[in-house]
Amino acid sequence: MPTRPTLHAIEPDICFIDNVKKLNASYRTTKTQSLDWRKNQLLALKRMLEDNQEALLEALKADLGKCETEAMVAEQGFLLSDIDHTLKHLDKWVKPRKVSTPMVAWPGKSFQQPESLGTVLIIGAWNYPLQLLLAPYIAALAAGNCAVLKPSELSAQTSALVAKLIPQYMDVSCVEVIEGGKEEATALLACKWDHIFYTGGEVVGKIVMSAAARYLTPVTLELGGKSPCFVDKNTNLKVTARRIVWGKWMNAGQTCVAPDYIIVEKGFEQPLIDAIRKELKKQYGKSALASPDYGNIINKRHLSRLRSYLDNVNVVYGGEFDEERPAMVPTLVLEPGLDSAIMQEEIFGPILPIVTVPSLDDGIAFVNNGAKPLALYAFSDSDEVLDRIISATSSGSVCTNDTMLFMTNPELPFGGVGNSGMGSYHGRAGFDTFSHLKTVMKRSFALDVPFRYAPFSKFKLSLLKKFL
Ligand code: NAD
Repeated sequence: MPTRPTLHAIEPDICFIDNVKKLNASYRTTKTQSLDWRKNQLLALKRMLEDNQEALLEALKADLGKCETEAMVAEQGFLLSDIDHTLKHLDKWVKPRKVSTPMVAWPGKSFQQPESLGTVLIIGAWNYPLQLLLAPYIAALAAGNCAVLKPSELSAQTSALVAKLIPQYMDVSCVEVIEGGKEEATALLACKWDHIFYTGGEVVGKIVMSAAARYLTPVTLELGGKSPCFVDKNTNLKVTARRIVWGKWMNAGQTCVAPDYIIVEKGFEQPLIDAIRKELKKQYGKSALASPDYGNIINKRHLSRLRSYLDNVNVVYGGEFDEERPAMVPTLVLEPGLDSAIMQEEIFGPILPIVTVPSLDDGIAFVNNGAKPLALYAFSDSDEVLDRIISATSSGSVCTNDTMLFMTNPELPFGGVGNSGMGSYHGRAGFDTFSHLKTVMKRSFALDVPFRYAPFSKFKLSLLKKFL
């Protein structure tokens, strides 16, 4: 009877070990070390995104009802500028990073040499199904790795299209797209990788990390959580409301860095609610369900999860939904119980709770009492207030007087802290995530001072002390 190769104790029904072996063999040819190969692959990916723009936008529309502008800005366009940024800086990123050398090691040179890791696994999420799968791939390619891409099964159209296009444009000896859900992901996680990059929820993040522990594989976990948004009463209310609406209801609130809830000083909640309502009508019309710019909820299961958050809370705006589409209008909830599901779980949808606090310090204490968020927002006219919030809280990122815009800066590493994730990417941070920064000290045979060699003496020791 033929036996399957086993690298792990519990054998899943599907096995991808041969796929990984094939990629490992390509990696060992050293072709991915060539800077020309990397640049050509990045250009091929760029061509793939440009040639198939229409089909990609259609797939995103089918999966999430994503309008063209959002799809261009946050998916296709985001990736194109990521590729351009990477191509512009890659020559610099691959260079050795020099550091000084202590006198005891003179003459000598010290530096860190970025080297690729090998074959990496990238597991994407459904909410930005193109961006979250291909942005880590751009970084992995730039750093000279082979990769398996596992798109989310929930965004099925985008997953199928990427699986069809990648082999048409890319060097298939160095990349493979493996579609599927939990079963396939479990089988992939049972293989030995040189890095695992996972985007998604915390529960699966723990599964990924424990699977990685089997081979001591390093992981990047891009998770989520409840991202708070402070609004000080001294703020430009109109612009604040406009930017909150933009960041919260893009992709119908299904964004890992969307404001999850608002913290406002007691007495200022009503002017804020009025300003947000006004802005919602301006951006999405009387009913967002009729707006061509407003997205869907990924599936009925998620819609019913979101609807359950509205049980026993004070809905002050919205709440309507369309079961078939499925979709839910922008919804505001005032003063939910702090132990209610809506304040305990990440909402990841179009509901925005508003929590009032007696003072800014109470708001900070509330945030610090929970898990460290992925993003934190603060709106105020006062730099003192903003600086206090920045220094008194911990989160993956902070953006003041705006929401989500920090994501557009490739010079800013993106990632979580604590329960919102570990590791980071975007720009050089992504290149570094998929590289090993190898420490190198280069010495010459000149000047072989003998005082570090035995037999030792008091005189040698005093010299050593001086030089060290
Ligand atoms: P999801 O359901 O798409 O799952 C993510 C990936 O995990 C998918 O590819 C899926 O197939 C795989 N998966 C599912 N079950 C698995 C299992 N048992 N073992 C191994 N893999 C499995 O996405 P989700 O979890 O619903 O995503 C929502 C969460 O992701 C939210 O918490 C959100 O904040 C977070 N998120 C974070 C970022 C970020 O960049 N930090 C981006 C998007 C989403």
